[in-house]
Amino acid sequence: MKEPRTEEIQKGNLKIKIKYTGKTEVYGEDYEEEILLRAEIVEGIYVTGPDGKEINICDSAPDYIRFFGPLKIGDGFDDDNGVITFDDLNRDGSLLGLLHEMGHSVVNRRYRDEVKIDQGWPQKTRETKVKEERGSWGWALMKYREFLEQGINLAPEFSSREKIKDYVKESLLTHDIAGRAVELAYKERKAEDVAGTEFWRSVEPQDLDQMIDDFLDNPAVEFNDTFVPREEIKRSFGLRK
Ligand SMILES: [Zn+2]
Repeated sequence: MKEPRTEEIQKGNLKIKIKYTGKTEVYGEDYEEEILLRAEIVEGIYVTGPDGKEINICDSAPDYIRFFGPLKIGDGFDDDNGVITFDDLNRDGSLLGLLHEMGHSVVNRRYRDEVKIDQGWPQKTRETKVKEERGSWGWALMKYREFLEQGINLAPEFSSREKIKDYVKESLLTHDIAGRAVELAYKERKAEDVAGTEFWRSVEPQDLDQMIDDFLDNPAVEFNDTFVPREEIKRSFGLRK
């Protein structure tokens, strides 16, 4: 066991402290050798805003989740192992990306029964994948706004709402966030991921824009089970419900 330690990062007006438990774990046994690693378990990611208010981002994740990072595989959610990995927190969009992966840890379970019917990850229906991505961003932006109301802007590197929207769009259209992990680790999953990306590219740009506006203006509705997307969005997204 290593000594517990803390890493400090300054990001815009945020002070970020990654606290490590000192415990390590070999993580990624399914991965290629390149990223088979002994990861330190994160105790918390504490963020202090300009007025001194401190939050631990990890507290918002379900209890079964352990956090590893920063890792070169970048942001990712591993349902089988209950792990969220994160990227270098200095990278643009890193904290939004982390919230998005936490969103997956909350949202994907909602569709577990559908996945079971589809016999697991690679056979997930397009609709399930789409709902997971949509719901995870809805959850992420709901949390983003909650923290903002507490005086902590988790995206200080983005100077405007448009830049946040561009980041979310880029994530959906290129799946850049997961892309690196997928490329390094899950070659067999890549086709699945590309299919997801192609889907988002097929969505009318104004509907994609509207969806993110909906998230930002009232994200809770998108995350809420009872939320029903507007008809034109359902049509554009090819959603049955
Ligand atoms: Zn995602």
